[in-house]
Formats: sequence, C-alpha cells, structure tokens
Amino acid sequence: MIEKRLGLFGGTFDPPHLGHVAALSAAWASGRFDSLLVTVAREPYFKTAQRAVSPSELRMQMAHVAFDSLDGVTVSDMEIRRHGATYTIDTVRELASSTCQVELLIGADTAESLSTWHEADQLAELVTVGIFPRRGSPPEVSAPWRAHVFDMEPVDLSSTALRDEDRAGRDISALLPPGVIALWRASQR
Ligand code: ATP
Repeated sequence: MIEKRLGLFGGTFDPPHLGHVAALSAAWASGRFDSLLVTVAREPYFKTAQRAVSPSELRMQMAHVAFDSLDGVTVSDMEIRRHGATYTIDTVRELASSTCQVELLIGADTAESLSTWHEADQLAELVTVGIFPRRGSPPEVSAPWRAHVFDMEPVDLSSTALRDEDRAGRDISALLPPGVIALWRASQR
C-alpha cells in the first residue's frame, strides 16, 4: 500500500526564483502530495557542458533560503553528496519504494527533453510526471510517460534570463525569493 506520495522537484537553481516558488506552491495546493522534496543537482551534466554553473554549495544555500519556509517542502542535499554526473534515476531509486510513490515535478520546457534523460525508460516505469506550464513550451510528454499538468498560470521567469538581466546591471531582487539576492550578490563579487 502506498503510504507516502512524494513530489520530487530537482533543479540547478542558479539562482532559485519566484517561478520555482510558484511551481512548488501549485504542486502543494493540488493536494496530490504528502511532501515535496527539492533536490539541488551537484553536476547537471546537460548544463555544465554548456556553461559554468555556480558552486553546488552556493546553490544549496540559496535553495534553503528560497524554499525552506514553503508548506510541505524539504530541501535535500542527496544529489550534492553523490559524486559524478547527477542522474534523476539514481535519486528516484533512493526514494521510491513499495510504500513511497514518486512524482517527478518538471517545467514544460524540461518535458520536451525528458525522453533523452539517462535511463529514461526505467525512469518512466518508476515515476509519474507532474508538468508546470511555461510559456513557449507545450506541457506534454508522450508514452510511456504517465503525466498530468498542474493548474497554474505560467510565470515568465527563468534563471538564465535572470542571470542575463543581472549581468546587464538590472535589479533582479524582486524576482527572487527574499534573502536570495544577498547570497547571489556576494557570490558575484
Ligand atoms: P535555466 O534557465 O538556468 O535553465 P531554470 O529557470 O529553468 O534554469 P532550473 O533550476 O533549471 O531553472 O529548473 C528546475 C525545474 O524548475 C525545471 O523542471 C524547470 O523546468 C522548472 N522551472 C524553472 N522555471 C520555472 C517557471 N518559471 N515555471 C515553472 N517551472 C519552472
């Protein structure tokens, strides 16, 4: 019998922003979960191949500040403690059991690439998928994934856009959860 329904929200969080907060709030409001787990990827291999990602310790600190106060949410360092490339299938294998059903929580942009993930077929057997709408990306995945879409207005924010704005000298503090900007600015000095 399933005793725990867990929503797993993994990411790079470089930096965490109000789009992530809105997504976690919509997931919790859906009533589908007993708890939500945020995991910070130590080595998001598809991103580190393209650009320098901030140190995992900083991203972990920012995730705590951003998400610790949200209902139902726990921030975990389990992907930081693992060495090598971060694969979601490894995280799910640690968490899923006969009594714990894991739902993978992803934005619609991520849904597009889900089938290219490491051991995607095995992952599709272990999890259901909850998709957050994001503008410009269809909130869909095809079989064998079992998916549904959360009821929320898309929030037009991404870490990439925020890093770009910040580099251009614009003030991004209002788009980050309280407290994140201080850590982010200190890291950019
Ligand atoms: P980047 O722009 O650097 O790729 P990101 O803003 O997409 O970053 P990530 O840390 O890579 O943030 O994302 C973690 C998860 O959060 C992913 O599944 C992503 O699709 C989702 N996500 C990010 N921003 C939003 C948003 N505005 N609304 C809903 N989901 C989001």
